[in-house]
Amino acid sequence: MTDQYTFTNPVEQYRMPEPDEQYQDGPGLDRELRPKADHGEKSYRGTGRLGGRRALITGADSGIGRAVAIAFAREGADLVLSYLPEEQPDADEVARLVTEAGRRAVLAPGDVADEKFARGLVRTAVRELGGLDLVVNVAGRQQTEEKLEDITSDSFDLTMRTNIHAMFWIVQEALPHLPAGSAIINTSSVQAYSPSPTLVDYATTKAAINTFSKALAQQLAPRGIRVNVVAPGPVWTPLQAAGGQPPQKLPEFGQQTPLGRPGQPAELAPAYVYLASAESGFTVGETLTVTGGMPTP
Ligand code: NAD
Ligand code: MG
Repeated sequence: MTDQYTFTNPVEQYRMPEPDEQYQDGPGLDRELRPKADHGEKSYRGTGRLGGRRALITGADSGIGRAVAIAFAREGADLVLSYLPEEQPDADEVARLVTEAGRRAVLAPGDVADEKFARGLVRTAVRELGGLDLVVNVAGRQQTEEKLEDITSDSFDLTMRTNIHAMFWIVQEALPHLPAGSAIINTSSVQAYSPSPTLVDYATTKAAINTFSKALAQQLAPRGIRVNVVAPGPVWTPLQAAGGQPPQKLPEFGQQTPLGRPGQPAELAPAYVYLASAESGFTVGETLTVTGGMPTP
């Protein structure tokens, strides 16, 4: 079994069979993804690093957000899980795993590109968990387009709202509730530094997330609230099979990394745990890259 504890060669660790060409409509479902992604379901071991913490996680049903939810729960946090209504079966599975870890999972389906809903997520967390001290923005939209001419205004707008506006709305709404010691973690990408020609709009949002976070981190540090970012490289998730990549590119997905393979969501969760816990207390405004060796500045 692959895990994060056995001494092993990272070239082989979490290596998966080559995926077939596949395409899913909408946000995509983990349960339709082939081969299955590894979110640490069978491997992540908590050590009480987030005991009693209260977290809002967007995009928590699948992929990186699911791995973060599993890890946070096993580290002792109660969670509000945000996802799109179409993703209910995936969210139910995450809720089951969180509950199995002995923590609370509050399900909050809805569209974070809608300001009212995004802000309402914070109120849900405060009401249901009795407070909030971790805000983790993982939800994201990525749609590949060969030519700029093919990106519609609506699609451009939705990518901006999902990836940037939602983060702004959620963080702004959360601030009055966040005690000193709280952490905000946003999700960028290697695309912020090394953008693909077919992801112009998406890559732009990921650079914006870095800059937003670095500015805000300095503003909030004196209040004892830390803002940091995780920037993944290619990770095997439904996002990639639901229009994030051209289907015919999926068999070679992630092979361009120096490790020669894509990452699994399970490999991202520890970065979020580190940035959430007091262990990283002197780390502020940082982007932690987890890219399989793809260089970043
Ligand atoms: P994923 O599809 O599993 O997760 C993305 C989630 O975003 C979805 O599950 C969905 O719940 C949520 N979402 C999208 N639009 C939404 C909306 N309008 N309202 C509410 N929720 C919405 O894929 P993932 O790869 O785990 O993506 C998580 C984050 O990681 C994204 O921000 C993505 O940009 C980033 N990222 C992924 C990769 C990768 O290779 N997979 C690389 C770099 C960065
Ligand atoms: Mg999903």
